Amino acid sequence: MDIVFRDVEHRYQVNTPFEKRALYDIHVDIRSGSYVAVIGHTGSGKSTFLQHLNGLLQPTKGTVHLGDYTITAGKKEKQLKPLRKKVGIVFQFPEHQLFEETVEKDICFGPMNFGMTEEEAKARVSEWLALVGLPEDVRHKSPFGLSGGQMRRVAIAGVLAMEPEVLVLDEPTAGLDPRGRKEMMEMFASLQQQKRMTIVLVTHSMEEAARYADEIIIMHQGTIVRRGTPEQIFRHVDDLLHLGLDVPETILFQRAIEQKFGVQFHTPCLTIED
Ligand code: ADP
Repeated sequence: MDIVFRDVEHRYQVNTPFEKRALYDIHVDIRSGSYVAVIGHTGSGKSTFLQHLNGLLQPTKGTVHLGDYTITAGKKEKQLKPLRKKVGIVFQFPEHQLFEETVEKDICFGPMNFGMTEEEAKARVSEWLALVGLPEDVRHKSPFGLSGGQMRRVAIAGVLAMEPEVLVLDEPTAGLDPRGRKEMMEMFASLQQQKRMTIVLVTHSMEEAARYADEIIIMHQGTIVRRGTPEQIFRHVDDLLHLGLDVPETILFQRAIEQKFGVQFHTPCLTIED
C-alpha cells in the first residue's frame, strides 16, 4: 500500500485561543515495502504526522491517500476502521497498554476485535510469539510478570497479529539497553523482509535511522525539511548540525576522514554498541 500526503496541514484545537498548527505543507510519498525513518526535535510534528497514517488524526487541510483510502477532513470514524487493521501503530512504551491476565489473551485481543474467532486466534499464538522472538512458555503467563523488553514484545505481537501492511513505530527502542535496542531493531528489519511490510520509524537515534532505513525524513517546526537516503542525508552534515540535530561522532569522524584524504565512503559507518 503506497502512502501519499498532499499538502497536509494539521491544527490542534481549531477555533480556540489554543489553536496550534502542528503540521503544514506535508507533501510526501512512501512506497509500499520501504523503510522510512522520521527524525526531528521534540515538538517538530513527528507524532502528529504518524497519527495521520491510520486516520487517528485527520488533516485540517490537504489529503492523505493510503492505498485505496483517502482521508480528508471530516471522514467518519466508521469509514476508517478497516484502515486501523492495515496500519499498525506501536506507540511509545506500548507495554503500558497491556491489560489482559495472560500473554495469549493480550495478543488475541486485536484480531478478535476485528472478527477472528477465539479458536482461530489461539491457533496462531505460537506463530505470533515466534515473530517477536518470544518462547512458547510465556503464553499462559501474566504479561506483568515478564521483563520490560519481553512485555514490549508481547505488545508488538498484538499489533503484528492484525497482519498490518504498514508498521508504524514510535521510538520503539526507548528505555532499552544497547543490546535490547539492537535486538529490537534487528527484529523489525527481519520482519520487514519476511512480511514485506512498509515500516515508518520515528527515532531520536540517527544511528538507527542510518543503519536500518532506506530513506530518512527530517522534520522541523511542523514540516519536512530534508528527505533522502541515509547516504544523501549524512553527506550534508553541516546542514544537520545547523538544524540542531545530534549527529553521531562516528559520522563526523567519517566525514573528517573523507575530507582529509579525499576518499568517499558509500554508506555511513555506524555501529550500534553491543
Ligand atoms: P513530536 O512528536 O515531534 O515531539 P508533536 O507532533 O507531538 O511533535 O507536536 C507538534 C506540535 O504540536 C508541538 O508544538 C506540540 O506542542 C503540539 N501539540 C501536540 N499535541 C497537541 C494537542 N493535543 N493539542 C495542542 N497542541 C498539540
